Amino acid sequence: MAHPETLGVHAGREAFSELGVHAPPLDLSTTYPVRDLGDGTASFDALVGGAATAANPIYARLHNPTVARFENALAQLEGTTDAVAFGSGMAAMSACLLAAGQRGQHVLAVRPLYGTTDHLLNSGLLGIRTRWVRPEEVAAAIDVDTALVIIETPANPTLDLIDIAAVVKAADAVPVLVDSTFATPVLQQPVALGATLVLHSATKFLGGHGDVIAGVVACNADWAVALRQVRAATGGLLHPLGAYMLHRGLPTLSLRVLKAQQNAQILAERLAAHAMVAKVSYPGLGTVTQAHLVGTQMRGPGSLMAFEMRGGHAAAARVMAAVKLATPAVSLGSVDTLIQHPAGLTHRVVDAATQAQHGITPGLLRLSVGIEHVEDVWDDLRQALDAARLSAAA
Ligand SMILES: *Cc1c(COP(=O)(O)O)cnc(C)c1O
Repeated sequence: MAHPETLGVHAGREAFSELGVHAPPLDLSTTYPVRDLGDGTASFDALVGGAATAANPIYARLHNPTVARFENALAQLEGTTDAVAFGSGMAAMSACLLAAGQRGQHVLAVRPLYGTTDHLLNSGLLGIRTRWVRPEEVAAAIDVDTALVIIETPANPTLDLIDIAAVVKAADAVPVLVDSTFATPVLQQPVALGATLVLHSATKFLGGHGDVIAGVVACNADWAVALRQVRAATGGLLHPLGAYMLHRGLPTLSLRVLKAQQNAQILAERLAAHAMVAKVSYPGLGTVTQAHLVGTQMRGPGSLMAFEMRGGHAAAARVMAAVKLATPAVSLGSVDTLIQHPAGLTHRVVDAATQAQHGITPGLLRLSVGIEHVEDVWDDLRQALDAARLSAAA
């Protein structure tokens, strides 16, 4: 398999010379002419049944060639045969749960998870029940009705790591879904460690520029059929313009991820030494659970970190108000630095007891480091931390 740097540039573009183009054609058709009804009927049946392609795309809810090219590229980056794209990360997660519901009554899930994933699983909105377990409890919790095991590593927002291979072993025949949004295929390939489904909120690093909301699941052919059936029936589609923009971003994915990671390591060390910061959780500092997985499971520590402000909620709020270069906003994985307050924003939908249990405290801020010059980001963070210190003293 070629390296992520090469795949990012070339994957999904194989047919271009045959097509006589150099950039991906953007096909915005909602419907396609059917001249031969026999062929049209066969294509319709194939696509509704979950086929990846057919002679005629028929209707854009069933197939779109621009989306399919992005899916093909992402599958190559994750080392899978297939990938299925959706209108958001949560649409992708919903499709996985709906598909899993055909196989069993409940899922096992390990906390912490992205706030809305936690909420979706805990609410039972989609009918499937969730049993919350710790990684070491997976083997004992599995029974004939277990459809799926769900983990997120690095986890949101604590940056705790989970040993994917160990969970896969414990899950035995039950498929494991890894939300790999924080890692991207540049830093981690869960399928190589035995995972069955790799989910990305493509809104984050894959898009990377804060202008596309999307989700994608990389998986084997069987799961892809089930996911495409769900997508065709429920309509959680990725718009082709979004797919085009995601595909356009893949050539720089490695550059963005590695540069942001380089910045993050420096900033994590400086934050940890700042008087206003009580603790920095960052895999590159060894301050998260299973940090030893950096260098093995993960090629590097990534560019997200969480830090605990001395002075709690008030101090965290002051930093959010004082940053000038960084954007005080949810989301992550963008070219620009973003900072947000998990307890007040992304993890608000998680109940207070679960928040407390997983270190989502009133003083916690999550930083998604961008690709700016590191000294400019540090100058900004330092002035914001100093502003919080001065107003605390006043
Ligand atoms: C953002 C995010 C999601 C949800 O994705 P959307 O594109 O916002 O629907 C899921 N998991 C993780 C880890 C995320 O960061």
